[in-house]
Amino acid sequence: EEYEPVESVRPETPVKPMTATEVKVNVSIPEAAERAAATGADGVGLLRIEHMVLSLGKTPAKYIADNGEDAYVQELVDGIRGVAEEFYPRPVRARTLDAPTDEFRELEGGEDEPNEHNPMLGWRGVRRSLDKTDVFEKELRAFQELWGMGYDNLELMLPLVNDAEDVRRAKSIMRDVGIDVEKQRWGVMIETPASALSIEEMASEGIDFASFGTNDLTQYTLAVDRNNSNVADRFDELHPTVLELIADVIGTCRELGVDTSICGQAASKPDMVDFLVEEGITSISANIDAVRDVQHEVKRTEQKLVLDSVR
Ligand code: PEP
Ligand code: MG
Repeated sequence: EEYEPVESVRPETPVKPMTATEVKVNVSIPEAAERAAATGADGVGLLRIEHMVLSLGKTPAKYIADNGEDAYVQELVDGIRGVAEEFYPRPVRARTLDAPTDEFRELEGGEDEPNEHNPMLGWRGVRRSLDKTDVFEKELRAFQELWGMGYDNLELMLPLVNDAEDVRRAKSIMRDVGIDVEKQRWGVMIETPASALSIEEMASEGIDFASFGTNDLTQYTLAVDRNNSNVADRFDELHPTVLELIADVIGTCRELGVDTSICGQAASKPDMVDFLVEEGITSISANIDAVRDVQHEVKRTEQKLVLDSVR
């Protein structure tokens, strides 16, 4: 049976169905934290920090040159803190910077950015972080400060990793800024076929979770530009090859005790939700407006699985 929200009592906090699979919410701008928390989500599965950075109007390098590194760290601390506070003690998974060069080029200081022929295959995510360690370290300092302030619900997620070497290098820089990588919860996004095929080796580096970024995983598996309308009809997150990569990662992670999650747009598609719950994913993170439907879809699928098992 389904629960309906008690509209007349507190419309902003719907009664959510209890499910074994956690249902979380994606947050792209810190100002949306309150609305996101009111969905009753079990946490934030993806907090993008791109908006916090791009809204400064300057590239990180330019902002740091003009305002100093402490000011940059403070901007990140303030932005992430609002969300971590709103959700405490529910977990908040913040992702380190993942802006492509074409977005940086629009900002003051952007003239120093490389003009890439194909930014989606270029210098973004952890690739850039591992090269521009000075900027990456400021982000890590923000995490470290927040953990020091007691926000132990904060988790760190690395975007666009390809393999265990990426993870090792990131971990080494995390250690350099004083992060206790054994104690704090951190993990990776699965966004490339390479990362999916490397899950076992990455798991041995001590990641706590792997989260499917299906927007990119689909783009890179099918070689279909996610922003190109000419091939939009070929952008299929439910393509059997994408699902096979996902299922394999979930299976391996279950054996190894690593949590799995999804934070791409496909998380709000009922067919994807059914598939993921059946495979045994740990959590599903959807956009604010989709959380409620996903909660109910998860409930339905879990009930179906129980019925199937006793038949
Ligand atoms: C994804 O790739 O699915 C994802 C969640 O990250 P972004 O959309 O920010 O690339
Ligand atoms: Mg992505």
